[in-house]
Amino acid sequence: MSIETQKKFKAGEAILRQGEPGETAYIIEQGRVEILIAKPDGTQQKVATRGAGSIIGEMSLIDKAPRTASVIALEDCELLEITSSDFTRRLANADPVLKMTTQVILTRYRDMLARADITGEGKNWPPPEALELNYTQASNAMETIKLANDFKAALSSSEITLHYQPIIDLRTGDIAGFEALMRWEHKDKGFISPGIFIPIIEESGLIVTASRWALREALMALKRIEHKTGIRKKLFMSVNFSSHDFASEDFVDSVYTTISESDVLPAQVHLEITERLLMGQPDNARQTLEMCKKAGMGISIDDFGTGYSSLSYLHHFPIDTLKIDQSFVREMCGNKSSMALVKSIISLGKNLDMKIIAEGAEHEEEAKTLRDLGCDQCQGYFFARPMPERDVTALVQEWEKKKL
Ligand code: C2E
Ligand code: CA
Ligand code: CA
Repeated sequence: MSIETQKKFKAGEAILRQGEPGETAYIIEQGRVEILIAKPDGTQQKVATRGAGSIIGEMSLIDKAPRTASVIALEDCELLEITSSDFTRRLANADPVLKMTTQVILTRYRDMLARADITGEGKNWPPPEALELNYTQASNAMETIKLANDFKAALSSSEITLHYQPIIDLRTGDIAGFEALMRWEHKDKGFISPGIFIPIIEESGLIVTASRWALREALMALKRIEHKTGIRKKLFMSVNFSSHDFASEDFVDSVYTTISESDVLPAQVHLEITERLLMGQPDNARQTLEMCKKAGMGISIDDFGTGYSSLSYLHHFPIDTLKIDQSFVREMCGNKSSMALVKSIISLGKNLDMKIIAEGAEHEEEAKTLRDLGCDQCQGYFFARPMPERDVTALVQEWEKKKL
């Protein structure tokens, strides 16, 4: 899957030529450029200059019509190239509301330019300055693209790691398994939260490579933990997957291969997905999940209760675990409606023969309440934070002392 590439232009060099077909836009990372339009008498008129954070050639993202202006580098420039096919792919994968609004805005933008008649033959020439793209939008986009590029490099270095958060069986007090959570220690920026980088790598398509890496890494870690602690084939490892992972054709094959290569039981592997994934591609998700289920893997719905309100979908998928979102758990002890929701999710899960895991228990009171309500398992800072593999091994060996 492609990711934007960096291009360099020397001062005076033409970046875009009016009349040539357009298939790429550029974000200016460094340097300044001049935009020129050929007037009806053949002379060139300067219409604008642009600097870092601006976008040029963006019309090519709407269609492949000939360039309506030329762009010349005023200084040595560094640009990030966005191809129209990459843009189209990103748009196809976008949230439906985002997709629709973007398409409407792009079409209107094209219409507005047509009316402005920037070929210079009509009365509205030169084009209105209103065509300038918002600086903040452009620089945010650039930051996002840079981070995605950095992630690609980071994945093959030691900047990206996994931490593992124990999940506790509330009946026995034992560690039942772990959730693998990605961590990024960026070489210049320091720690970057997954809440920031996961959406970015999802958008760029890099999540597919990242998830495969995470599954392999997590299962190999599980094997090493088993070996060091002597606890064999009992602990599970839960790994997060996104809709992009499910959309890739060889998803099931790659999961099978990783499981057999790491020599853990399929039942020790839990796939964590969200309600949104199920609703977004129901047929594909059902088929994929059924194959995974048949192979013996566990399937958990993450952040349950925060997504779609329709519960009818639960029947249609081979789900065996609901993870109650941490927002309900956090508020449960001081807020009646959160408590009612937690109770309802637990009884819903029991009626459907599913296991319930509560997330985000930070205090003993929450953990005890959840246990008394019949919740099966719990994950939260009260028991343990996500931690590196070496700490997991030590914790598993020490755990007996910490039981509820
Ligand atoms: P999530 O899947 O819901 O993961 C649980 C998050 O809750 C983790 O945040 C965990 O550190 C945090 N957490 C657990 N117990 C507590 C608690 O008691 N209190 C509080 N305040 N937080 C608690 P984290 O690691 O920052 O991850 C955030 C999100 O990023 C994850 O939410 C998940 O959606 C995504 N993510 C992280 N790693 C991966 C990954 O490898 N793949 C994918 N697709 N997404 C990931
Ligand atoms: Ca999760
Ligand atoms: Ca969650």
